[in-house]
Amino acid sequence: MSDCLFCKIINGEIPSSKIYEDEKVYAFNDIDPQAPVHFLVVPKQHIASALEITEKNADIPGHVFMVVAKLAKEMGFADDGYRIVNNCGKDGGQTVGHLHFHVLAGRNIGWPPG
Ligand code: 5GP
Ligand code: ZN
Repeated sequence: MSDCLFCKIINGEIPSSKIYEDEKVYAFNDIDPQAPVHFLVVPKQHIASALEITEKNADIPGHVFMVVAKLAKEMGFADDGYRIVNNCGKDGGQTVGHLHFHVLAGRNIGWPPG
């Protein structure tokens, strides 16, 4: 999608600090980190939000969780744990209209959310 911030990051139009990439997803550090480790995993395909998950693209969330488990082991935060967050829509706190999963680690992430 031509006017989408994360599509521009995926295609390199806007620079990002890349963590991982494969045929389905791109992962990069959040510009405003909320924990010592805070990166985003986004599908390369433009999907506006979790509300747009259908039978056709339902493989994406599972793939994201698999990639995060692999990165957790490689990056060294598997033992201490981590949180994966998806914000969907206005009340969910979504500010960028391209599906993304936050990965937060490196400190105890509080609960419940604000
Ligand atoms: P949301 O609030 O939609 O769940 O999360 C959007 C996230 O994207 C925020 O954590 C925000 O800091 C991050 N973000 C917004 N613009 C950019 C950018 O240009 N580069 C990077 N790396 N992250 C961004
Ligand atoms: Zn997009």
